Amino acid sequence: MPTNALSGRHAVYTGSFDPITLGHRDIITRGAAVFEKLTVGIGINPEKRPLFTPDERLSMARDVLASLPNVEVCCFSGLAVEFLRECGARVMLRGLRTLSDIESEFTMALANRALDPEIETVFLMASEKFSHISSSLIKQVAQLGRHSAAARLQEFIPVQVVGPLLAKFSGSPQSPA
Ligand code: ADP
Repeated sequence: MPTNALSGRHAVYTGSFDPITLGHRDIITRGAAVFEKLTVGIGINPEKRPLFTPDERLSMARDVLASLPNVEVCCFSGLAVEFLRECGARVMLRGLRTLSDIESEFTMALANRALDPEIETVFLMASEKFSHISSSLIKQVAQLGRHSAAARLQEFIPVQVVGPLLAKFSGSPQSPA
C-alpha cells in the first residue's frame, strides 16, 4: 500500500452526480465549511448508463459550485479509496438520507476501511428539506412532468441544471401511448 501522507483536513465526496442535486449541493456546502479542502469526485463507472456524459456532469457541478473557493470538482474512475490517495485526502464524506442509506453506506464504509484502513468515512445527515431528493427521482420528474416540470424541478436541482436536464428529454415521448 502506498505510504504518502494523507490530510485529515481534506475530504472527498464521491458520487455519480447524474446530475448534481440540491441535496448534493447542501452536503458539499456544509462539508466545505468543516474541511479545509473538499474535492468532489464524479465517478465514471462503465457499468452504469448515466444520462449525462462525464464532461456534462463535470461542467454542471463546476458551474453550481463556483462560489465555493475550497471546493474542486474532477472525474475519476476506479476505486474511491484509490482516488482519495491520489488526492492526498484522508476523509471520505458521505450524505445520509434514510434508513436504507444507512445500511448501504455502512457496508460501503466497512468495505472501504478494509481496502484502506487509513481512510475514515464521515457522514453528514441530509437536511430535512432535501432528504427526499435523489438524481433518479429528478430524472423521472423531468421525463414525466410535462408542462410543470421546469418550475417543479427547481425544488430539486440547482437552477443551472434545469435547462440541460429538460434538453435531455425534449422530443422524447413523455408517457406511454
Ligand atoms: P451514486 O449515484 O453514485 O449512488 P449519489 O449521487 O446517489 O451517488 O450519492 C452520493 C452521495 O450523496 C451518497 O453519500 C448519498 O447518500 C448522498 N446523497 C445523495 N442525495 C442526497 C441528498 N438529497 N441529501 C443528502 N445526501 C445525499
